[in-house]
Formats: sequence, structure tokens, C-alpha cells
Amino acid sequence: MKYYSLNGKAPIVSFDDAVVNGIAPDKGLYFPEKINPLPHSFFEDIDQLSHEEIAFTAIRQFVEEKIPDDILKNILKEVLDFDFPVVDITSNIGTLELFHGPTMAFKDVGARFMAQCLGYFSRSHKQEVTVLVATSGDTGGAVANGFLGVEGVKVVILYPSGKVSDIQERQLTTLGQNITALEVDGTFDDCQAMVKNAFLDKDLLDHMKLTSANSINVARWLPQLFYFLFAFKQAKSKGKEIVFSVPSGNFGNICAGFVAQRLGMPVKHFIASTNVNDTVPQFMRTMEYSPKPSTATISNAMDVGDPSNFIRIRHLFQDNFEKLKENLTSYSFTDEQTKEALKEIYNINEYVADPHGAVGYLGLKKYQEEHPKVYGIFLETAHPVKFLDVVEETLSEKLEIPPQILRVMGKNKKSIKIGTYQELKNFLMK
Ligand SMILES: *Cc1c(COP(=O)(O)O)cnc(C)c1O
Repeated sequence: MKYYSLNGKAPIVSFDDAVVNGIAPDKGLYFPEKINPLPHSFFEDIDQLSHEEIAFTAIRQFVEEKIPDDILKNILKEVLDFDFPVVDITSNIGTLELFHGPTMAFKDVGARFMAQCLGYFSRSHKQEVTVLVATSGDTGGAVANGFLGVEGVKVVILYPSGKVSDIQERQLTTLGQNITALEVDGTFDDCQAMVKNAFLDKDLLDHMKLTSANSINVARWLPQLFYFLFAFKQAKSKGKEIVFSVPSGNFGNICAGFVAQRLGMPVKHFIASTNVNDTVPQFMRTMEYSPKPSTATISNAMDVGDPSNFIRIRHLFQDNFEKLKENLTSYSFTDEQTKEALKEIYNINEYVADPHGAVGYLGLKKYQEEHPKVYGIFLETAHPVKFLDVVEETLSEKLEIPPQILRVMGKNKKSIKIGTYQELKNFLMK
């Protein structure tokens, strides 16, 4: 499989170069040249297949011979060593729990898969790669965990001092080995600006192979399509049309859902649920794409004013607005509505959702007002303990802390403080 840049001014590359580069030299996102549908029998018999078999069949064409089949199977086995259950909330609403991984965020699968691919390519290309990533919270933990101990890859994570939760900070700063946490005296935007600077700094680029680990990278984006297949496998026996409501920020996850649909998965519709950062819901109303600065909310992993992957979705539908509308509806919700939804879900059957999942639930309910017969699945993208304060306060309940989280709470933080781009550069040039 070859990948081209959506800006159209960079060479076509194969999977390994798309992964190592992250973004194309013309700053465009890489996109697969074609998506070949899987045979009908794959979807008919999907309940006979294991998660690894499903994932291997689905991702094979995107990787091709760049990773041998046996190694790809081993990678998938390691990446997918936890559960992805669909839990019924009512008779026509289920939630796909994506938080059973090591950092309890759905980003674990993409981060682990990318780490394994990059590790494989850096060994076979005999070149060490440095992954540079800025985080406002969840990405950093999933990336740190996914890349821990991967040979040939160093990871440098920038996070804003005092602006991530205690749990999130410990997930970033307690691992050691090939992971270094840089604690930036500034905001998330400052961290992101430093990372952007580094990618444009010729001295650095001559000195080392730098790449990023956000959902722009095809190896982080594409494996998210597994979630939709795993959910379909579990929901198929209901015999109803299926819709997915995806809490969306950078729109990588939902875009992977559309890839699953292109592979032939029967799905009636997608709902992109957002918080008040409503660039896409606005676009779906007006056909005008107007990015804006982000607004802080209680579902903070979705505080994105200019979603980087939305362009991939538009491209999948060849920028045909009518076609896109047949497949996608998008709604936005306030923090107040999100808290009401947390309570509502809890009152149905004592299910504790997190603020991101609650936004997904709201979008699904709204869609079902006009489509009452469909079976809807909203994605639970993080475990509620990761948003402990707001969930406990809203539900007036104490949450139990799971073992993955307890383990990091006991460890000591180790970070290097920096304040300027020059300090970052000095650190990287060492
Ligand atoms: C990253 C994240 C999202 C948004 O996913 P996108 O692929 O960026 O749309 C939603 N929920 C949680 C908990 C996240 O960490």
C-alpha cells in the first residue's frame, strides 16, 4: 500500500516511510491510495474470529510486506491483550468500553501499535528515531506506556507544569528507560509551539530523526478501526441497524470508523459528538469550515478548535457534502448537559460513564429521537477515574481506583524542567 499526501506536493511513500515521517514533507496528512473492501464472509462470520484475527485481516492491506505476517501477528497480539466489551445500557443503547488498556484511555491501542511499528522500522533501517510529543494529558501517558522499552526509539514528552492531573503526570513521569518527561513552565499551547519549532529546525533535523506520535501518524490512526469491528462482532446478533456515536476531538477515531465502513462493515450512520468546541457540527450545518481557538471543558481531551483529521474524512467522501451528510451527523453539548447525562446514565443502571462517553451518549440519544429503531453504540474513550473530581462530584459517589492507576500513584515523579525552546534544543542536541 502506498500513501500520498493530502497536500499533493510530496512524493508517494510506502507504509514504513509514512510511519517514520509522521507528516509528509509538504505538511499534508498521509492517506492510503486505496481501501479494498474485505469479503462479505468476513463480516458474516466475524463472531467466529478472535480479536487478533479480525485485526490482522483488517490492517494487512495497509501494512503489506513492510512488516512480515508473523511479526505483524505478534505485534497485534501484544497490542490487543485486553478487553473491548460492549455493555448494554438500555435495549437499544450500548457502550463500547475502550479503557481497559494500561493507561485506561482508548489511545493505548494506537500508541502501542505505532510504537511497535516504529521500533521494527528503526531496527531494520538501523537508525534511531526520537519521538517528540506535546500533551495536554491523555496522549502523553498512552505514548509513554506504548513506547516503553521499545529499542531504537527515544521518547521525549512535553507537558505543561501544573496543568495535567496528578494521575496523568505520574503516568508520564514515572517510567524512566527510553522515556523522558520535560516539564514546561507554560501552557499546552507553549508545549505544542516548541514541538512545532523543533520540526522546522534544520540543525535538529540534520542531527537526528525526529517524528511525532499524534493521530496524524497513520500507525496511530488506522488501528483505531479495530474498535468498530470488535463492536460490530458483539452487536451483530441484535439484528438491528447499527449506528456509532463517537466523542470527537481531533476526529481520528471516528475517521477510522469510516475506514471500517469502507472495508464493508455494515453500519447505518456515524454521529460525531463534541463538547462546545463545535467546529465540525457548525460545518455540517453551514458547509463553512471555520477553525477557532479551543475552549476548556470537562471533556478536555476533546478541546480542539481545528480538528486535524477532519480533512481525512472530507477526503474519504471526495468533499461531497451530500454524501458526507448521509453518513455523518454531528452535535455539540455543553458541560451542563454532559453532567446531566452522567447522572442520567447512572440512574438507568448505575453505570458510571466519563465526561467524554457522556457526550457520546448525548449525541446518540439525540439521533435516536428521529431514528428510534436503530441499535446505537457510544464509545467510552476513558475510564471515569481519569476524571475523578468531576465524576465524583456530579454523581455524589466515590469511585474505586483500578490497579493500573494505583500502581503509578505509588511511584516517584522524574522530570526535567524547561522554559524556552533553546532549552529544549539543548536537551535534544546532547
Ligand atoms: C483523544 C480523546 C478523544 C478524542 O479522540 P479523537 O480521535 O481525537 O477524536 C476522546 N476521548 C478521550 C478520552 C480522548 O483521550
